[in-house]
Amino acid sequence: MSATPRSSPLVPRSDTSRGPRTEPLILGVESSCDETGVAFVRGNTLLGDVVASSVEQHARFGGVVPEVASRAHLEELIPTITRACQEAGHRLADIDAVAVTSGPGLAGALMVGVASAKALAWSLDKPLYGVNHLAAHVCADVLDHGPLPEPTVALLVSGGHTNLLLVRDIASDVVELGSTIDDAAGEAFDKVARVLGLPYPGGPHIERAAADGDASAIPFPRGLTSRKDLERHRFDYSFSGLKTAVVRWVQEREAAGEPVPVADVAASFNEAVADVLTRKAIDACEEYGVHDLQIGGGVTANSRLRAMAQERCAAAGISLRVPRVRLCTDNGAMVAALGSQMVQRGLAPSSLDLPADSSMPVSQVKAE
Ligand code: ADP
Ligand code: MG
Repeated sequence: MSATPRSSPLVPRSDTSRGPRTEPLILGVESSCDETGVAFVRGNTLLGDVVASSVEQHARFGGVVPEVASRAHLEELIPTITRACQEAGHRLADIDAVAVTSGPGLAGALMVGVASAKALAWSLDKPLYGVNHLAAHVCADVLDHGPLPEPTVALLVSGGHTNLLLVRDIASDVVELGSTIDDAAGEAFDKVARVLGLPYPGGPHIERAAADGDASAIPFPRGLTSRKDLERHRFDYSFSGLKTAVVRWVQEREAAGEPVPVADVAASFNEAVADVLTRKAIDACEEYGVHDLQIGGGVTANSRLRAMAQERCAAAGISLRVPRVRLCTDNGAMVAALGSQMVQRGLAPSSLDLPADSSMPVSQVKAE
């Protein structure tokens, strides 16, 4: 399909001073959950990155409400594109390809980004790449630390996902080694925060409370680590039993009329999550003979998780790559970065009728 490129009155004139024009310029669009993200990437260089989050609109519900998220994407997408153009000093007409999160994620939220990206690609007459959100999270690191060593084991921990991946080629060969069988790690932080009377999203509040607590005060369970569980779920995670254990522990205290030591509960819970996440990630590296571990997703902001991963990787001779926190949460930069990898490898673009696929498997890095 082709069309006459149209210039938008919303965006500034092109600024050709932003680096050499030798590598293609990719526009990335992300809308799979509660962040509307738009970014420009040239090669592995981030030129502009704007995120509008609807997280505050979900706070009173204690979790992301899909309809609210979709409406927020509709409202935020064009202003976010405009701001990203300004930040990058580029016009839409400058881009060489459009990349968009095709899945997995919330169906209605994904549809907003996918429909917009199709409209952009069609009107600008540029190729469109529908990319996998989970692989894009892994690819974010390329913007901070350059090309990904391959193979790499990637641990992705966010409010919606907890996955352990074997990345043999970031643009085309990603295998899921394991994932959560119930709650995602971030979801567990959010639910436990609620039990402790802390606001949503819970992760940062638990981390703050944990700073004054004793991480060894309460021996909370480490999900799917018993010998029997490891037979079937070697690289899978489970956080719902941990959440229930915290609820029971708090309820027993309250029933006995004793005060709840919030700092100790938060620290012990945080420790249990960080322990099981890093333990299985290191095991996966050892099992597959991989010397590089990459961690991403919103929970990566957690300083205990980062510190424990660093310590355990150092002890096991594994090098750890963690992008800056802004690139760990949902954003358009990681989507543009993955689109850029696909263009650099000469992969064929996706079809203009690519779907918004809420359950897109991670083995499918690019939508057809
Ligand atoms: P999603 O959009 O899939 O929910 P994000 O990548 O936006 O995921 O990450 C949000 C999640 O990260 C929330 O569940 C939040 O509680 C968690 N989180 C954020 N900061 C921290 C932190 N410092 N420690 C632990 N969890 C955190
Ligand atoms: Mg989010």
